[in-house]
Amino acid sequence: MTDFREIFLNVQKPGRYIGGEINSVKKPFLEDTVKIALAYPDMYEIGMSYLGLKIVYHLVNEMDEALCERVFMPGRDMAEELAKRNMKLFSLESRRALSEFDIVGFSLAYELTYTNVLSMLDMGGIEVRSENRAEDAPLVIAGGTCSYNPEPMSAFIDAFLIGDAEELFPKFITEYRSLRAKGAARKEILAELACLEGVYVPSLYGTGDNAPGDLTPRPVHPGVPEVIRPARVKDLETAFYPVKQIVPSVKIVHDRIAAEIMRGCPNRCRFCQAGAVNRPVRIRSHKRIREICSETYRATGLESIALLSLSSVNYPYLADVVRGLNSDLEGKGVGISIPSLRVDEKFYELPEVISVIRKAGLTFAPESANAEVMKAIGKDMDPEVLARAARLAFEKGWRSVKLYFMVGFPVDVEDEEKDIADLARRVSSLRGSRPRDAAEVRVSVNPFIPKPHTDFQRHGMKSRAQLIEKKRKMLSFSGKKIKISFHDVNQSILEGALTRGDRGVSEVIFTAWKKGAVMDGWSEFFNYGVWEEAFKSEGRDIEQLSGRCFEPDAGLPWGHIDCGFHSASSDNVSAHEDR
Ligand code: SF4
Repeated sequence: MTDFREIFLNVQKPGRYIGGEINSVKKPFLEDTVKIALAYPDMYEIGMSYLGLKIVYHLVNEMDEALCERVFMPGRDMAEELAKRNMKLFSLESRRALSEFDIVGFSLAYELTYTNVLSMLDMGGIEVRSENRAEDAPLVIAGGTCSYNPEPMSAFIDAFLIGDAEELFPKFITEYRSLRAKGAARKEILAELACLEGVYVPSLYGTGDNAPGDLTPRPVHPGVPEVIRPARVKDLETAFYPVKQIVPSVKIVHDRIAAEIMRGCPNRCRFCQAGAVNRPVRIRSHKRIREICSETYRATGLESIALLSLSSVNYPYLADVVRGLNSDLEGKGVGISIPSLRVDEKFYELPEVISVIRKAGLTFAPESANAEVMKAIGKDMDPEVLARAARLAFEKGWRSVKLYFMVGFPVDVEDEEKDIADLARRVSSLRGSRPRDAAEVRVSVNPFIPKPHTDFQRHGMKSRAQLIEKKRKMLSFSGKKIKISFHDVNQSILEGALTRGDRGVSEVIFTAWKKGAVMDGWSEFFNYGVWEEAFKSEGRDIEQLSGRCFEPDAGLPWGHIDCGFHSASSDNVSAHEDR
């Protein structure tokens, strides 16, 4: 019998693997129950902070005919322990190997976790490539933001569930269970599941008969849909919400009650994938949000509430929610935070909100400080509004501000870095006229990546050399009060190549993983050289992929995923082309 205690004593933070946390669920492993391992391809601390994981975990466990357990990417020490003992990666709840489950479901939120998926399958005793899986192997499925371009992971995932899990996952499980009970073969099960709205089974599609340059996969199996439409929750008010959220046993990134107030975003920033793929906007009533927060507080005792949405200032009842929560939870020491507060005039109408953000810190995301760029990207934030908001904040006692920007949009402008520095200096000086009174402004800059389904999807990313030069320029403006950080350029180039990748990129991911790439989102493990080699050995070029532009009529690798939104201008931004 496995001595788990000894294993846990040999690794750092054993709480990552032990399970048994308050509100975790352990159901019996019965023959006719659909057993699902919910796999997050990153460490416990990150996965447990993710609201989507909490929703799916409890949603499945509420079903009589199914159970759901969790598994996270193990740390290097745990991976070594498993290898040393010839053990498979196991779930937290029953400590069973991944290969013992019926379905292993990955949540794909970030492209730089792709190699972790391969590692987890391998460690869990499951063939990494779908085509090699035996008849009785678990179905490997995936959902999350990255599934809106599923092709780069198409060789490893049997079925993608695209869209809102609350709507799709229960139907998927019920259908799977009924097909299994009928004795359907693996291929038959997948072909039937592919007919559910939001399900994409890559093995039933191909590009073999396409004209040159057409990268959109087409059905190669009769009866499956030509385009896949994401499943959508129609009414957020009545949608499932887990109030008995797991209370983690080790400190996680966001240890808080996560209350989603709105799904989708009414703004139309042209670069924004989250806004583009999560349509239409759906809201929860302030009454329901208050219920959710109070019940979750009673079930967890967590002392922080985050009101989550893509753009909370657009939620029509924000002040009501904050006022209501302050009254419901008075004297309990519960803090409220609103992470995605976009600056606009509404900011001034919400004194309750201002008092809330005081505690959490003030963050603005103007994305650019150049008027021409802002117009082109549809981010219509007036710098004067930002200045007024910052001045107001400083008057109310804030000492520092965070500003988020992107550089390298497909717009021809000079000195966008200087524009950012000028705006940061201006904001800093608003706190007081004497240099010593200036506010600290932390500026975070990311290279722009043209994401699938956005207005810029046919554009290329800037080259590595251009971005390195932008980084050099940007960092030269750092000063005592203006602290500037610039995201790792190599990681951004890789993210660009993967997010815009076609079916062939699966082979690159496989090769990179074989050569040792893993935990690519972690700078201490990321090795760009390995990826360059992997692209080369598959006859591809990493920068050709991140930077490639698609002709207006070329079939996109994600052309078969229809998010239901077609901007008149989406394929017509070439006036700003600069590569
Ligand atoms: S406001 Fe934010 S979430 Fe909404 S579309 Fe713009 S960038 Fe996206």
